[in-house]
Amino acid sequence: MFVYSSISHYQSQLTQGHTTCVEAVEHYLRQIAATRHLNAYVAVYEAEALARAKELDTLRKEGKTTGRLHGVVIGVKDVISHEGHPLTAASGILQGFEAIYSATAIKKLLDEEAIIIGSLNCDEFAMGSTNEHTVYGPVLNADDESRVPGGSSGGSAVAVQAGLCMVSLGSDTGGSVRQPADFCGIVGFKPGYGRISRYGLIAYASSFDQIGIFSTNIPDTALLLEIMAGPDVADSTASRQQPDAYSKELDTPKTPYRIAYFPEALDHPSLDPEIRDAIYKRLESLKNEGHHVQPVNFDLMDYIVPSYYVLTTAEASSNLSRYDGVRYGHRTEKPVTDLVDFYKKTRSEGFGKEVKRRIMLGTFVLSAGYYDAYFTRAQKVRKLLTTKIELIFNDFDFIILPTAPTTAFRRGEKTEDPIAMYLADIYTVMANLAGIPAISLPLFRHNNGMRFGLQAMASRQNELSLLRFSHELLTNREN
Ligand code: GLN
Repeated sequence: MFVYSSISHYQSQLTQGHTTCVEAVEHYLRQIAATRHLNAYVAVYEAEALARAKELDTLRKEGKTTGRLHGVVIGVKDVISHEGHPLTAASGILQGFEAIYSATAIKKLLDEEAIIIGSLNCDEFAMGSTNEHTVYGPVLNADDESRVPGGSSGGSAVAVQAGLCMVSLGSDTGGSVRQPADFCGIVGFKPGYGRISRYGLIAYASSFDQIGIFSTNIPDTALLLEIMAGPDVADSTASRQQPDAYSKELDTPKTPYRIAYFPEALDHPSLDPEIRDAIYKRLESLKNEGHHVQPVNFDLMDYIVPSYYVLTTAEASSNLSRYDGVRYGHRTEKPVTDLVDFYKKTRSEGFGKEVKRRIMLGTFVLSAGYYDAYFTRAQKVRKLLTTKIELIFNDFDFIILPTAPTTAFRRGEKTEDPIAMYLADIYTVMANLAGIPAISLPLFRHNNGMRFGLQAMASRQNELSLLRFSHELLTNREN
């Protein structure tokens, strides 16, 4: 039987002849078929993945393998372009659309001999926290099927949680990688803004969006980051700084870290007391291990979710204006009177409820009479927050927070109350507003049986130290 634990273990099994890429792909195809009801995948590239696996097995036998991701089976969120494959953002407006080029991140994975096995369900245009707003129907949490997997990258999280691929890609605009990882008991990593090129990632809110990684361990995360990161002529917002050799530098001599936490966040009324206690306990043991752990005042807690929703909906209303039914995607078949009527009918039919809500909200906050009251103010909050976070990182290496205020919601629990759903993003949006790297680590289990994570954040460009710290935390996990 094929058993996966990490990329390096898998690859040594391959070199020693204990397994093959074909065996791995067949294993995942069987697992995917057996768990169709979880609804994680929206497309599975069965024949293509098998053919590629066969090719790679031959190459390896001939001693011609060069890829650092040789045979690694990866699932990709349905918002990242992969040439010749379906790309729909789980939306009716892109039904039937196929990507005409590959995202830089995808090209880099394929160049390293990865096998992309399929495309993963998500909330429409990556807007949501439950993976219930999707044209393909909701994704189920494999740990408890009466619960949501989180969102928006719910399919990507479940694919790793349920062993339906080795690692997967998601996108994180306000927590869409970290929160589903938290709900599903796996590792979810969002690099700092600009670390991975956004070329080929469907835009939700361009100044927040980042491709992120789901995995079961830090060495896998580090290797994928190392491969996908780096400057890109096709994305002017991609950092020009060369990335570190993350996967090779994970083990370093132990030094005491300076760790900050926000009492305002941990004592927030929305936080489940059991989650609060688990985080406090972990902070306490970090202190006992010799790290400097200190509370820091943070008075912006109540402003970050509102400013996140003002800014991201504003950006979304502009980004989503391209879906007009003229050149690609859904086009109304109803009779139309003029071009505006054509746009209205096409867009009313193509977009789902949550996306429409956000386009309207975004258009409103950008409108002439309200621009300064909402958009400009939210920009100011973002600036304040970024400065505050920079100051904190002058004195600290990491900030520790919960990832989410509760464990995975029950299905349907938040669908009728969008505000309640937005407020649950309280701990994740901070890293996107400030553009810093952040990770959710599956360290805890709640009395209700669900796993949940601890969130750690580092300063801009400091993915390496964040991954080292995470590696340490996960290896010494207590429960
Ligand atoms: N839940 C957040 C939202 O709905 C996060 C989305 C994301 O990161 N893509 O906007």
